[in-house]
Amino acid sequence: MAKQRTFSIIKPDATIANNTGGINKLIEESGLRIIAQRRIHMTRVQAERFYAVHAERPFFGELVDFMISAPVIVQVLEGEDAISKYREVMGATNPAEAADGTIRKLYAKSVGENSVHGSDGVETAAEEIPQFFSESEIVG
Ligand code: ADP
Ligand code: MG
Repeated sequence: MAKQRTFSIIKPDATIANNTGGINKLIEESGLRIIAQRRIHMTRVQAERFYAVHAERPFFGELVDFMISAPVIVQVLEGEDAISKYREVMGATNPAEAADGTIRKLYAKSVGENSVHGSDGVETAAEEIPQFFSESEIVG
């Protein structure tokens, strides 16, 4: 498997709880490299676009409100098989089902406030990264 890039967000529950460093430690211990990173307060327009795939889901409004409720850290991670590796490091969407040692098991509060986002495929990563970073801001 070749070197790959994935898009990550450290979500509002985690920035509020001061878990940014703890989450970055787990990312780096997994072998993934943080090759771009910025703290932002997402706008409603950005959050609605980012989660447009979930627009018809009953939790969409709640999800957008949550994502703009406090600052987030947007990141690009790089490594071998980075997309599925980061999904493993994150753990299941619902922290009650997340494996021991995963970010969501350690830090997430609920299925909605679940501390991190990670791209779910090659096409998704390619669509998500440019929403927040230009190529010159990504330094691998
Ligand atoms: P993942 O973030 O693990 O890829 P999904 O893509 O299915 O999960 O969902 C996107 C985000 O929407 C989740 O991370 C979570 O913040 C929120 N979400 C998903 N399911 C629910 C739910 N049943 N209730 C509230 N929020 C949810
Ligand atoms: Mg998803």
